[in-house]
Order: sequence, then C-alpha cells, then structure tokens
Amino acid sequence: MTDYAVARQRMVAEQLVRRGIQDQRVLQAMGKVHRHLFVEEALWGRAYGDYPLPIGEKQTISQPFMVALMTEALELKDHERVLEVGTGSGYQTAILAELAGKVYSIERMRALAMRAIRRIESLGYYNVLIRVGDGSVGWKEMAPFDAILVTAGTPQVPIRLLEQLGEDGRLVVPVGQAENQVLRKGTKKGADIHWTELGNCVFVKLVGEQGWSD
Ligand code: SAH
Repeated sequence: MTDYAVARQRMVAEQLVRRGIQDQRVLQAMGKVHRHLFVEEALWGRAYGDYPLPIGEKQTISQPFMVALMTEALELKDHERVLEVGTGSGYQTAILAELAGKVYSIERMRALAMRAIRRIESLGYYNVLIRVGDGSVGWKEMAPFDAILVTAGTPQVPIRLLEQLGEDGRLVVPVGQAENQVLRKGTKKGADIHWTELGNCVFVKLVGEQGWSD
C-alpha cells in the first residue's frame, strides 16, 4: 500500500520550495508527516494537493503552503514551548511537534479534538497536549510560550495571547474580515510588539471571547 512518499516530496518541491519556503527543518517536517492520515480515507488521494480540505464540523485542514508559511514564521527551536489555537485535524500540531519541545493545542469542537488526540497518539508524539476549550483566551496555566499560532481568522489580535508570549516570543495570527484576512506576525520585545505582515489568507472563524461571537 502506498504511503504517498512521492506525493509528499512533490508537495514539498512544487508547493513549498518553489514558493520560497527556505527553512530546512520546516521542509523536512512537511516531507515526513503523513498528511493523508489527518483526513478521512476517501480524501487520501487529494491530501497532498495545493488546497485546504474538509475535516468535518464545517472546518478545514489548511493548505500545505499555508502550514509551511506559518510554521516558518514561528522560527521554532527544538526546546521551545508553543501554543496552537485551533487543533482541527491535528496536522499542524504534528508539524509543530516535529520542531518544538512541547506543543499545547486547544480545539473548540470536541469531536475534532478527540479525533486529533487519537491521531497524534497513534503517531507516537509524546510532546503534545490537546484540550477542548476556547483558545482565543490562550492557556494561562501553561504560559509563557515561546510561540503562539492561531489557525483561525479573528477580527482583532486576541490580547490574552499577547500577554501569554514570553520575551522574544512570536505570535502568528490571521486578522481581518470573516471571508479573508492578513496573516500577521508579532514579536515581543520588552513591553513592545513588533508587527510584520506575511500576506493574505482565508481561514475559518476563530469563535470565542477574543474572536467572533457566533
Ligand atoms: N490547524 C488545523 C486547522 C483547523 S481550522 C489543521 O491543520 O487541521 C481551525 C480550527 O480552529 C477549527 O477546527 C475550529 O473548530 C477551531 N477553532 C475556532 N475557534 C476556536 C477557538 N476559540 N478555540 C479553539 N479552537 C477554535
């Protein structure tokens, strides 16, 4: 049975390297993690395509390039602690687990969280903790984080997440309208946050206290 090794290498070369992803650790992780195992079996043949895919509950697994772009922007070192808001399928979680010391991930929808936990465990990632809840307020008990990644779009930067960043911490978050957003990166320098923009993007809504209300 195929493990999609060829499809994975093509994805890395054609969708990531060609569009400017340079971080070798990120490229290696994306070449390694079996993305097809994070979608239902009927979609395995499309799992390495250049688009997001449905994962149930009206949510999506992000396009490979978007996963790579966000992960590269986090600049993770292998001992660092990272928070992901929006576990979804758990694919991005696995990529983070390849690159960081410890990954905390919060998912609002119980059914998705349970499936992601099973996948992450069966793949043998022991440095991941996933829980159900509203991640727009972060995970105070586990703060501070070296990096925080929000994988859902929000009308404004969730202030609690900025508070939970450590010194030199990086926050990557899609900010804007419901239909389209700008991917923003904030880096904490003392009391200041230095902001840059990484491009346009389309994510499902971050629904919660610091996101959208419905
Ligand atoms: N990183 C995921 C992307 C999933 S889409 C992947 O690679 O599969 C975004 C996810 O964010 C959805 O599963 C959605 O349910 C979740 N979400 C939305 N608002 C949330 C919130 N306030 N807290 C936690 N998760 C949230």
